[in-house]
Amino acid sequence: MTEVIDGKRVAEDVVLKVKALTSELSAKGATKPGLAVVIVGEDPASQVYVASKSRTAKECGFHSLQHTLPADTTEEQLLKIIGDLNADASIHGILVQLPLPGHIDAGKVIQTIAPEKDVDGFHFINVGKLGTGELETAFVPCTPAGSMLLIERVRGKDLSGLNAVVVGRSNIVGKPMANLLLAANCTVTIAHSRTKDLPALARTADILIAAVGRPEMVKGDWVKPGATVIDVGINRIPAPEKGEGKSRLVGDVAYAEAAKAAGSITPVPGGVGPMTIAMLMANTVASAYLAAGLKRPSF
Ligand code: NAP
Repeated sequence: MTEVIDGKRVAEDVVLKVKALTSELSAKGATKPGLAVVIVGEDPASQVYVASKSRTAKECGFHSLQHTLPADTTEEQLLKIIGDLNADASIHGILVQLPLPGHIDAGKVIQTIAPEKDVDGFHFINVGKLGTGELETAFVPCTPAGSMLLIERVRGKDLSGLNAVVVGRSNIVGKPMANLLLAANCTVTIAHSRTKDLPALARTADILIAAVGRPEMVKGDWVKPGATVIDVGINRIPAPEKGEGKSRLVGDVAYAEAAKAAGSITPVPGGVGPMTIAMLMANTVASAYLAAGLKRPSF
């Protein structure tokens, strides 16, 4: 029987734990976790993500702050806001929603966020900590951190001896995912658009991660029998069967055929997707604990 990994439920568990940790923090007399979300411009998808992040932050009992800035905001103005948030003791997490308008250097903006408030885990300090295995103090990007929790639910924390193949080498998903799997003692291979014979490589994987952005690219016969398949992809494709102009979400994995071979698999939607915001809350509460001089909670 294939186990369908219920990301929605695991994400709810994470949020419940964040709420409890927030209450404990208040009971200790410490400042409650503060999350600042900054959005520049009017990209509709970004607006939806940001609204959802701010809503979940409030639900967790956080101090939630949102800066909604016009598309013509200058880089200097944005850097000034980040500088102010860096200095604000009531804020423990700063998130700048990407993409930024073309006239702003996103790399520069991200590197301006104080590493101890970089709850997205994109600052070089946090990237370096993850790369060197300093997981006690690193902030790990939310999507791979959430994917790792899902893997732990079915495989446990120690993945010694397992082969992992990560398809995709982005800084946001593929590379941090590979580092997390390595830290958990997997033998890790990172594949990308120049990899030869990807289906054969994928078939060596006990844990197969698809983070590509190509609808249903990973086929059923790419999956080793019994493997754990984590589908990070979120792709919207036309769904004429639902009516004219309608669409539906699919992952990077051809779910129905892959599920026949897999031992466990994440669906899309309802798999990795809900974990991303939950892990943002987990990182923010962890930042608040560290700022209060308390032991970092684990998830
Ligand atoms: P990205 O930056 O576009 O990276 C895609 C990666 O896939 C690249 O490394 C690329 O290789 C590789 N690739 C492209 N075509 C390939 C092919 N035919 N065979 C093998 N590898 C191929 O994407 P991303 O930001 O990592 O996101 C990946 C997917 O995850 C997207 O669907 C995105 O929407 C989704 N996502 C979901 C969440 C969530 O919350 N669940 C969060 C972030 C992203 P090269 O490096 O060689 O170009």
